[in-house]
Amino acid sequence: MLHVDADGFFASVEQSLNPSLRGKPVVTGAERGIIAAASYEAKALNIGRGMQLHEAKALCPRLVILPSDYESYSIYSNRIFNILRRFTPSIEEYSIDEAFAEIATGRDVCFETPEMLAAELRKTVRQELGLTVSVGISLTKTLTKICSKFRKPDNQTVLRAEHIPLMLKITPIEKVWGIGNASAKKLLQYGISSALDFTQMNESAVKKLLHKPGHETWHELQGHQRFRLNENPFRTYDSMMKGHTFSPPSNNPDFIFAEAVNNMERALAKLRRHRHLTREIGLSLRLKEYHHQSAALRTSLPTDNNRELIALLRQLFTALFIHGQTYRSTTVWLANLEPPHLRQPDLFEARPQSAEQTQLHQTIDKLNKRFGSNSVQSAALLNLREKPTHSRDAKPKRYDKLLKGETKVRHLNIPRMTL
Ligand SMILES: [Mg+2]
Repeated sequence: MLHVDADGFFASVEQSLNPSLRGKPVVTGAERGIIAAASYEAKALNIGRGMQLHEAKALCPRLVILPSDYESYSIYSNRIFNILRRFTPSIEEYSIDEAFAEIATGRDVCFETPEMLAAELRKTVRQELGLTVSVGISLTKTLTKICSKFRKPDNQTVLRAEHIPLMLKITPIEKVWGIGNASAKKLLQYGISSALDFTQMNESAVKKLLHKPGHETWHELQGHQRFRLNENPFRTYDSMMKGHTFSPPSNNPDFIFAEAVNNMERALAKLRRHRHLTREIGLSLRLKEYHHQSAALRTSLPTDNNRELIALLRQLFTALFIHGQTYRSTTVWLANLEPPHLRQPDLFEARPQSAEQTQLHQTIDKLNKRFGSNSVQSAALLNLREKPTHSRDAKPKRYDKLLKGETKVRHLNIPRMTL
């Protein structure tokens, strides 16, 4: 098994797109006021994810602060995964910058040793994308996660069966993939502080204390495969949430409601893409002073219909909004979701949501996918134009130079690369 994890991913992509940023402390997240990712140069100055930008700026006045450019990040992410596919067809895209893979090494395949494969993979990514990844290779997914972190950044670790106990001895239990905070706390009470202590526990005690997932991790740490590669993850969601912080803050109810509608539509587009239905919609309004107020309503039947939900959203907004107050963000969530395989057939077709409605939504989603989000939108969203401008509104730099065929809303998926 192999695990690959990009180093300081978002910030590294920015440095790859703009080489003058190489070697400099760079962070992303300008649009939120909070750091989303930090380059290793910034991390060396104790600047990291989740920190307020003004605090970071105080620590390092020459810090380069950029708005997030998720489109570029996802293009780079795909490129990393495509490079990995040249080495093996069996890969699991685990997150935007991490993947697991099954690999074969030996006399009769391309690479004789796993070390050679890892080195070639890292070299290819560095040469083609201008960023570095860390690679871990071992017998199970859980062990590869420990290995890829072991010598981060820009390094590789291959862990063979005979050296597993040595590695487990220096791995704190709370750093093990799959051992959550609650489990780690429980284990610490029994004097289990390293991954090695954990594997030396009696099997029935592990089952009793941590149940099935913990028991599987116990096996995985000893090199017995329990977690298989999940090549086509069939995702089900419990909830979906979309939020947006606007700057400067606003007290205009039409604008703030339009922001909420925009979040609702983005959440609904995702809901329909994954073929779920929702039974609850919630709204949270955050005031300028960081207090927030929220409320939720249940739907009469599971739905993915804009018209039904916008009426509920309006009720929530009317109940929460206070005139004269200044707001800085809205968040909309959909909860109590019904995944597609649990969908009940609609026995009497008595609901207002007919086949026509479904077709309408599918068409709108298709148009927005093709021509850019919000190409077709609710009239309420016209009020988003009321938005005052602010220095934080800077778009990622590459949006200044549009290619032939690109518009401000539609970007061809062609990254501008520097090799
Ligand atoms: Mg990473």
